[in-house]
Amino acid sequence: MGPIGVLCLQGDFREHLAVLAELGIPSVRVRKPSDLTGISGLIIPGGESTVIDKLSKIYELRDPIKKLIASGLPVFGTCAGLIMLSDRFTGGPNDQESFGGLNVTTSRNAFGSQTDSFETVLDFEGISEPIKVAFIRAPLVTEVGAGVQVLASLGDGKVVGVRQSNLLGISFHPEVTGVTEVHKFFVEMCKTANLVSTN
Ligand code: GLN
Repeated sequence: MGPIGVLCLQGDFREHLAVLAELGIPSVRVRKPSDLTGISGLIIPGGESTVIDKLSKIYELRDPIKKLIASGLPVFGTCAGLIMLSDRFTGGPNDQESFGGLNVTTSRNAFGSQTDSFETVLDFEGISEPIKVAFIRAPLVTEVGAGVQVLASLGDGKVVGVRQSNLLGISFHPEVTGVTEVHKFFVEMCKTANLVSTN
């Protein structure tokens, strides 16, 4: 298996690199198109999706990443990264775009402002023990389209974790509460992925 790329344009990419290091998984910092060569998966961190959108265009990463998503490369988006993977999202400026790929609608900042951020314990399909995670100005999945599997919900049924074939998207941050299980789940997706074309 090749290394897992972490999109290092903005946001908490260092925490994701640290989790991969803890798991003994080789990683690559993705800042330019050539960094994508040979990766077995890509993590899009949390941060600010408007900024990740703009920087991915400036650094000419948008089209290569969209192509890799379409080719079947496993991609894991957390929080802002989930917004970047959503086919549709609400609450952003008119010119904001996502990479897309996940047949869902997400609502940005659905829980309120920074001061409404919180930690909670969640069940996650495929992970045996409940996980303690943080929601930080988090988005919510408001519409789950065909082909999308719900992996995690809040007690009130709000959807916060989804998967559609090669794509994994979560509203929350496991990497800031020391939880490595969701990354392990993603590494398994990378090991078993079938790429349509190799990169
Ligand atoms: N509110 C941010 C956005 O809309 C996401 C916050 C996060 O990634 N923690 O992009």
